[in-house]
Amino acid sequence: MSHKVALIRGDGTGPELVAAVEKIIKAAKIDIEWIDVEAGLKCVEEGKAIVPQETIDKIKEIGVGLKGPMTTPIGKGSVSPNVTLRKKLDLFACVRPVHSLPGVVTPFTNLDIVLFRENTEDLYIQDEYMATATTAHTVKLMSVPAAERIIRHAFDYARKHGRKKVVMVHKANIMKIGDGLYLRTFNRIREEYPEIESWDNIVDNQCMQLVIRWNAYDVLILPNLYGDIVSDLAAGMMGGLGVAPGANFGDDCAVFEAVHGSAPKYTGMNKVNPTALLLSATLMLDHLGEFDARKQIEGALEATLRAGIKTYDLGGTAGTSDFADAVASQLKG
Ligand code: NAD
Repeated sequence: MSHKVALIRGDGTGPELVAAVEKIIKAAKIDIEWIDVEAGLKCVEEGKAIVPQETIDKIKEIGVGLKGPMTTPIGKGSVSPNVTLRKKLDLFACVRPVHSLPGVVTPFTNLDIVLFRENTEDLYIQDEYMATATTAHTVKLMSVPAAERIIRHAFDYARKHGRKKVVMVHKANIMKIGDGLYLRTFNRIREEYPEIESWDNIVDNQCMQLVIRWNAYDVLILPNLYGDIVSDLAAGMMGGLGVAPGANFGDDCAVFEAVHGSAPKYTGMNKVNPTALLLSATLMLDHLGEFDARKQIEGALEATLRAGIKTYDLGGTAGTSDFADAVASQLKG
């Protein structure tokens, strides 16, 4: 079956990573028509919005997107293109699977956790102001509708995928109103899923628990900021940002992207690891119903890593394109 996918190539190392993933998907003979859409620094240089409305409209029309990382311009008034895209497409659920990969040695064996990060509110509404000459206020927006939909999304996922434990991560001991609202919403909704064991953890304790007892966790639900921070912690446990995938879901569309950013210092060096974006693309294939293709690509990726072909971040010497060629040749062979 043929699929259309909107493609944002991204900034910094984004275009190299996207090219690597395109090559592997082509080698797997999956019939995807990539529709290039613009966003990021190039748009700003051309005097356009960082995420133009045509891009939003096109992704909405197609319903599925794959995205290379985008750089947030530095300077007063600059907004994150990534946050803008998630907000404008109402991609409320950021889903980040954290699992061990063969050939990627870390102290955290048999990792198998899925993080659900709320994507639309919390401190990410970017509403800050100087209340007085010496005092800044940053607004942390927490609402019942946003809490309800990420919590239900996570429980529904757990039910569908036979996951047994769901934990709400918060700091309601300090932010009794804002984080308390998420915790109260969680405690109400979890009653609807009696077959799933569920409890809550304070975020600092959760970080420590993840490092010492990672196999005790299954599905974690996190408000936006904790989700951002714990995602990088989990990416490190998995082997680094080069291997950590992600997906963003709304009611009407889904955009797949790695956890990492544009790693600008490596731009044009053919150095960074395409695994994270490739695994994000396999999540996309799952979403498109291409289950066999997903398995084939994961198998080829695992065989490549097992054969010791690795990029610099995993201790290897392969460049981005060498690694992509190696995965692609597994698919052809
Ligand atoms: P980053 O994730 O881009 O890079 C941090 C470090 O992680 C890199 O220097 C590199 O050592 C390593 N790394 C990242 N991706 C890698 C890969 N594929 N392979 C191997 N190593 C990799 O974080 P940053 O430097 O803080 O951010 C750079 C820019 O990216 C910023 O403008 C930031 O706003 C943006 N950003 C974008 C996204 C996104 O597109 N979703 C996410 C995070 C940051």
